[in-house]
Amino acid sequence: IRRKIVAGNWKMNGSKESVDSLVNGLLEIESQASEVVVAPSFPYLSQVEQLASKSQLVLAAQNVSDELKGAFTGEVSASMLDDFGVKYILLGHSERRSLFGETDSLVAKKVAIALNAGFAPMLCIGETLEERESEQTLEVCKRQIQAVIDTVGIDKFDSLVIAYEPVWAIGTGLSASAEQAQEVHSLIRAFLAESSKSVAEKVQILYGGSVKASTSSALFKMPDVDGALVGGASLDAKEFIEIVKAAG
Ligand code: 13P
Repeated sequence: IRRKIVAGNWKMNGSKESVDSLVNGLLEIESQASEVVVAPSFPYLSQVEQLASKSQLVLAAQNVSDELKGAFTGEVSASMLDDFGVKYILLGHSERRSLFGETDSLVAKKVAIALNAGFAPMLCIGETLEERESEQTLEVCKRQIQAVIDTVGIDKFDSLVIAYEPVWAIGTGLSASAEQAQEVHSLIRAFLAESSKSVAEKVQILYGGSVKASTSSALFKMPDVDGALVGGASLDAKEFIEIVKAAG
């Protein structure tokens, strides 16, 4: 049985004030079977760590440098994230891939850096609308995963989480249906099983892309959907709490 994860990716949103009220809102969450994660922008990690110190809220970072330290202006290293109680690092998010030129091999390198530093990467994968329409969904997901397998090895997938986020569903209000998500998740798991059955059974696969409270319970009923990576709806404490409750 895989534990569900409900993660909020705040992206480049928030202020000291809004982070304060959002986190305080989330502290209302009663103890849950699922793991509840938030990913604030770097400058607010310390604030969230302090506000949430007595709660079960888990911290994630939205990115990490592929370098360990030194003259890399504007970058944030894995060891820095370690100072703020971060557990997960989002890697390979479609916005990083499409807007910041992150390639499969750079993402794989970052996954390796994160794993070596003791973090659990949340590896984001997913196809564009064009790729879906030309029936390349599985091929794209496999390619994005294979680059990571080639770099870190399948056994390390024990320590990471996969987030299937179809690009056409991100920020569009057009969520994949629960059945569409289940279909891809089960194919991803079958692909992993070709390398390791036990890893495939164990790895948590989250769905992301316009998840809302109203769509989340159907998603969470699917056998291969192990949680959600929530963007817009995670900026509203009430809505996010509803999603957490749906995960049980
Ligand atoms: P939305 O929930 O806003 O579509 O964003 C999803 C996402 O990109 C989470 O990482």
